[in-house]
Amino acid sequence: MIDLHTHLDLYPNALDILARVNKENRFTLAVTTSPRAWLATSQVFKGHENIMVALGLHPEVADQKFSELNLLLSSIHKADFIGEVGIDGSSKYSKTLEKQELIFDSTIRECEKAGGRIISIHSRGAASKILSIIRKYPSCGTPILHWFSGSITELKEAVEMRCYFSVNSLMLKSQKGKDLASKIPSELVLPESDGPFANLNGKPIMPWEAMDICSDLSKIWNISISQSKKQMMRNFEKLNVGLPQ
Ligand SMILES: [Zn+2]
Repeated sequence: MIDLHTHLDLYPNALDILARVNKENRFTLAVTTSPRAWLATSQVFKGHENIMVALGLHPEVADQKFSELNLLLSSIHKADFIGEVGIDGSSKYSKTLEKQELIFDSTIRECEKAGGRIISIHSRGAASKILSIIRKYPSCGTPILHWFSGSITELKEAVEMRCYFSVNSLMLKSQKGKDLASKIPSELVLPESDGPFANLNGKPIMPWEAMDICSDLSKIWNISISQSKKQMMRNFEKLNVGLPQ
């Protein structure tokens, strides 16, 4: 099992499930919402070699956490994984759009300076903005667009740029999500839970359930579930996350 985007520190019982996540998942990318949370979570999750904590500053808290921008930028060279970062273009966050863009642009610039990073990106209502910033820094690393919900045109652009897409079960429950997923080349799809935010049947999706998308994907791709799992693992291997063997 693998999970490329989970808010593991935000599950109500995070400490109780940590050992299980580490055991069942070959790899888990635990994204954080602020650089301070990254520092704290890295300490708490230390010793769980299959769980990587990503350095983030969530666009929804761009205003509240703006004072942590320097900590974010100065920590990128020490962090192998970045996320959750991005821009949220929905009306609720329109007042902070300028700050969000400033944070995202400087983060991606810094990723390029650091030699490239794996970056988990939030792009709700802002896919075009996200893509144009990534384009400015072509050596920023490997962008993974998490829970992509843009237009087909934006999706095609992201595919041309060879961005990855982390997909969760909830996304595949809607027709729009299914349509988008059917347009992503299979070699660019990765699994995510986005738990505990993503809920299915009233329960948060767990990191060891992220690969459940393979059942829906197998229908979209017209292959068996085991073939779609293999595809997912091949995609993951290509990321070269540098796990201890
Ligand atoms: Zn998230």
